[in-house]
Amino acid sequence: MGSDCLFCRIVAGEIPATVVRETDTTLAFRDIGPKAPVHVLVIPKEHYADVATLAQGDPALAADVLATSAAVAEDEGLLGDGFRLMFNTGAYGGQEVFHVHAHLLGGAPLGPMLARDLA
Ligand code: 5GP
Ligand code: ZN
Repeated sequence: MGSDCLFCRIVAGEIPATVVRETDTTLAFRDIGPKAPVHVLVIPKEHYADVATLAQGDPALAADVLATSAAVAEDEGLLGDGFRLMFNTGAYGGQEVFHVHAHLLGGAPLGPMLARDLA
């Protein structure tokens, strides 16, 4: 993937990001347009388009993304009051960047799971 993918370029250091945690396999950095007091994106360094592709293709790497998310939640002081971990996926999920990323959101009450009740 590489040069065509925004988050691969962040992994490569070609685009700056505010990195809060890095492991051999994952990177966590602050979202450029935060929607909550804490809004961190957690990605595998290896390119997978979305969470379904990642979970089916490399479950251990998916677990690494969760473990890094939990470590960042702890570092950011979110474990007590709670947080939300979210993977927007595909068109209906509103995904805009097609390198899988967990949105870690917290630091304030986050409101309803969806803006509107669609059921
Ligand atoms: P999605 O809609 O794909 O779930 O989320 C993409 C997220 O990436 C958005 O929340 C957006 O603010 C964030 N984003 C887009 N471009 C950049 C960037 O260049 N740097 C950072 N740190 N975040 C970005
Ligand atoms: Zn990528």
